[in-house]
Amino acid sequence: MKISPMIENAPFSPEQKNWLAGFFAGLHTQIAQNSNAGEQEALLPVHVFYGTQTGNSEAVAEDICAALTTGGMAPQLASLDDIELEDFANLDHVLIVISTYGEGEMPDNAQLFWDALSATDAPRLEHMHFSVLALGDTSYDGFCEAGKQLDLRLEQLGAKRMHARFDCDVDFEETAENWTTGVLEKVSEFKGQGGVAGAVAAAPAKKAEKSKWTRKNPFEAPLSVNRLLSGEGSAKEIRHFEIDLSNDGPQYEAGDALGVIPANDPALVEAWAQKLGVSLDDQAPGFDATIGEVLGTQLEISTPSADLMRLITARAEDEHLSHIWEHGDKDTIDNFLWSKDALDLVTLYPKAEVTLEDMLSVFKPLQHRAYSISSSSKMHTDSVHLTVAAVRYDSHGRKHGGVASTFLADRVAAGQPVKVFVSPNKSFRVPTDNDVPMIMVGPGTGIAPFRAFLQERQALGAKGMNWLFFGDQHASCDFIYQDELEAMQSDGILSRLDLAFSRDQAEKIYVQTRMMEQSKDLYAALEEGGHFYVCGDASRMAKDVDQALHNVIAKEGALTEDGAREYVNRLKKEKRYLRDVY
Ligand code: NAP
Repeated sequence: MKISPMIENAPFSPEQKNWLAGFFAGLHTQIAQNSNAGEQEALLPVHVFYGTQTGNSEAVAEDICAALTTGGMAPQLASLDDIELEDFANLDHVLIVISTYGEGEMPDNAQLFWDALSATDAPRLEHMHFSVLALGDTSYDGFCEAGKQLDLRLEQLGAKRMHARFDCDVDFEETAENWTTGVLEKVSEFKGQGGVAGAVAAAPAKKAEKSKWTRKNPFEAPLSVNRLLSGEGSAKEIRHFEIDLSNDGPQYEAGDALGVIPANDPALVEAWAQKLGVSLDDQAPGFDATIGEVLGTQLEISTPSADLMRLITARAEDEHLSHIWEHGDKDTIDNFLWSKDALDLVTLYPKAEVTLEDMLSVFKPLQHRAYSISSSSKMHTDSVHLTVAAVRYDSHGRKHGGVASTFLADRVAAGQPVKVFVSPNKSFRVPTDNDVPMIMVGPGTGIAPFRAFLQERQALGAKGMNWLFFGDQHASCDFIYQDELEAMQSDGILSRLDLAFSRDQAEKIYVQTRMMEQSKDLYAALEEGGHFYVCGDASRMAKDVDQALHNVIAKEGALTEDGAREYVNRLKKEKRYLRDVY
């Protein structure tokens, strides 16, 4: 069977490619027959929406659009917040790809849509046919919660599910492909029921330029720089890495993330071998590799999985543990697991007596780690930079380390290759208008994408004001990139720099303290069309900064709480309030 180049290059398995090729061949024949008969068939408009925090859902939605176009349909692609609910209510065929962010929350560019859809006065959607693809991570409590809620709400409003919701774990590709295949089949049943007769592929859906370098096919890039940024006396170890992308490496834009595929610490692999009484050179049962290879590069051997917790609880005969696992809320379980890795758990409960086979069945696949890129490719054409805090701590009598952060810091020698790929995040970009203010709030390693944004604006010759709020514990040792930032100030690139070193005085001073102090200027910058960006810790900092933004707007705009909320919602709608937080 002849496979079209589009299907050939799409991320489908050979069987799926064959199936799709046959499916589309059938559709094309049908179209040809209809037009031969002089009845030009209407192209079915299908609306594909995404809600994304890191760009994955958008990428999957683009793939679906490409498949729909090939199938003779007219896909229209947009983020959920791009559509007003009253317009949404007029649509007939709707596909939604949505990720879940944090602990079961909607991603930023779906929140306003969700607020409207979940309101009691939301319109009925009886004529709508829809399907939802939910992206998530089973290690979080609210696994795919955003997709589940959306799916349920659409059903409550009378919309008909044309295809079941599929929930994807971190390895989302295969499930996404299966959903796409199923959805295409269903959508094709509606062909001829809508659209403008004789319309030619109206699809404004952008054609996705796909990199050949993906999670499954990473680029092996030499690590060229590994430099400590934190100064003496710092409680942190923040490092600057440069990775060489010359020789056909992936392209990136400021705002994207870099996926790094790590290998586990050999010392931890050895410790597991000892604990389980196995030799690393032996064949791993059920795998096509040795135990050493499987534990070293294929499985997540540090972070305790829910399956491991279940296994230990079932066997340990420990009342306290059973109570925590069976009755504890998320905070109780998190507190219990704090600073314990999988080996600590197995060691703490020897009665559980785990075997190699047990562990191979409860370890999850080793995942890549995504880091916000801290360089602009317009300035660094052959390399990509990262700003990473190496996680290290002593606990339960052993040294513990973050898998990928210590992999980069300790285990990749200069010039040695690292497996990487770019995760595009098209929703997180410098302003398209070079003249508007760019306000960035990025404490700690949250500064990473803003170093990239500043370089980007410098390379673009943008004249708009650039304002950075940065902070960390101590000015003396945590003011990372100080020289660069000061040089950018002298060059006029960085128009304003407001610093908040939290532990240099008795009272904590945070970035939001500085925002409040500068509220007049901050509001003026927003009024000039400024874009407001936040990167870093989602659980506390981003929430407090959000509150501070509301306070600044209420104070300087003389608005009520509701008025300030509307103002912030308008910023979100206009894509002028963007966050890269987790
Ligand atoms: P951090 O732990 O967030 O600390 C940076 C500064 O923020 C410190 O001065 C800290 O003060 C202060 N801080 C603590 N609570 C705060 C609050 N509620 N509001 C404002 N500031 C607060 O810095 P980090 O070690 O570099 O970690 C950054 C965090 O961002 C990590 O959670 C990391 O995973 C995340 N991150 C996310 C992205 C992304 O989403 N792409 C990128 C980079 C980093 P005290 O400690 O003195 O209280």
